[in-house]
Amino acid sequence: MSNLKRAYNFNAGPGALPLEVLQQAQAELLDFSGTGMSVMEISHRSKEFESVIQTAEADLRELLGIPSNYKVMFLQGGATLQFAMLPMNLRATGSADYIVTGTWSKTALKEAKKLGAAREAANTEAEGFNSLPAKLDLDPKAAYLHFTANETIHGVEYFSEPTPPDGVPLVCDTSSDFISRPIDVSKYAMLYAGAQKNAGPSGVTVVIIRDDMLERTPANLPVMLDYKTLAASGSLHNTPPSFAIYIVGLVFKWAKKIGGLAAVEKINRTKADLVYKTIDESGGFYRGHTKPEARSLMNIPFRLPTEELENTFASDAKKNNLIGLKGHRSVGGMRASIYNAVTVEGAQELVRFMKEFQTKNG
Ligand code: PMP
Repeated sequence: MSNLKRAYNFNAGPGALPLEVLQQAQAELLDFSGTGMSVMEISHRSKEFESVIQTAEADLRELLGIPSNYKVMFLQGGATLQFAMLPMNLRATGSADYIVTGTWSKTALKEAKKLGAAREAANTEAEGFNSLPAKLDLDPKAAYLHFTANETIHGVEYFSEPTPPDGVPLVCDTSSDFISRPIDVSKYAMLYAGAQKNAGPSGVTVVIIRDDMLERTPANLPVMLDYKTLAASGSLHNTPPSFAIYIVGLVFKWAKKIGGLAAVEKINRTKADLVYKTIDESGGFYRGHTKPEARSLMNIPFRLPTEELENTFASDAKKNNLIGLKGHRSVGGMRASIYNAVTVEGAQELVRFMKEFQTKNG
C-alpha cells in the first residue's frame, strides 16, 4: 500500500469516507468477525449482524445524545423516499408546513403536495436561495414543520432550529450536515439523512423519530412505507442494506474516537474558515454564493469571474488531485463539499490551489 494515492475528495455525495474506516473494511472484508465470510455474505439475522446494527445504533445514540423515547431506523430509498414517507405517515388529513431554502426543501415540498395538503412557510428562491428566511408564515395547526438543515446545492445552513408553533412537530432533512456538529435532538419530532455525505455509502438512510409520532401512521400503508412496522422490527422487517449499515457503524465509531461531535464540529469549522477566508480575501475573484450568516460548514458554492475560468479551475484542480469541485449542474460555478471525512490538510491543499490559481489567472 506504499504507493497508495488518495484524492482530495470534495464530492457532494457520495463523498469522502475516513481512510481509517476504509482500511478497517478492507482488513475485515474476507473474514468478518471470525465467520470466514464478508459482512455482505452473512445472514442479517445472524448474531454477528445483530451486533453490527445494534452497535451502530448505540454509537449513534451516544454521538447525537438521542433520548430513549426516540427510535432509530436504517432504511432504504434515500432521503428522496423520506420526502414521500414523511407525509404518508405523519400528516393524516391535515396540512404540513415547509420552509423552502433551496433545491432540496423545494423538492421535499413538491413531493408532499402530490399526496395531500402542504404549504410554504417561507421561500427564499426570489433572492436566489442564498440566505435563511427573515420571517416565517406558520400554520398553528400544521401536522408538522419541515426544514432542510443544510441545502447541499446552495450552501445554506441552519445553525439554530426554526421554532414551530406550540404543539407543531419539527421535522428535519439533515442529509448533508448529519453528525457534523452537536444538535439537541429533543427539539425534533423526526430527523432523516441519507448516509452518503457524512456517514457512509449510499444505500442507507437514517431516520430518528420520536415514539409518539409513530401513533400517527395510518393502518393500511404498504409495509415498506410504514414507520411503525419498520421501527417495531428494528429495521429488520426485510433484508436491510447490511454492508451500508456496517460502514455507517464504522463511521460512527470513528467519530466517537476522534472526540465526538464537538471535536468534529471544531475540525469542520477550521476547514470552512480556511475556504471562506480565501474567498473573502480574494478581492472579488472568488464570489461566495451564500450570505455570511447562513454559510454552510459543509458545502461551499462559489463563482469565478467567467465560466471559462471556472472550467479551467475545475480541470487544473483535478491535475492537482483535488476532485469533485464542479458546482451542481443546476447552479453552475464551483462547490467545495468539506464533509467530516475531508481532512484539514485537504482544505489547506484546496486554499493553496485557490490562491495559486488566482495569482496565475487573476
Ligand atoms: N436532501 C438533501 C439535503 C440532499 O443533499 C440530498 C442528496 N443530495 C437529498 C435530500 C436526496 O437524497 P438521496 O439521493 O439519498 O435520495
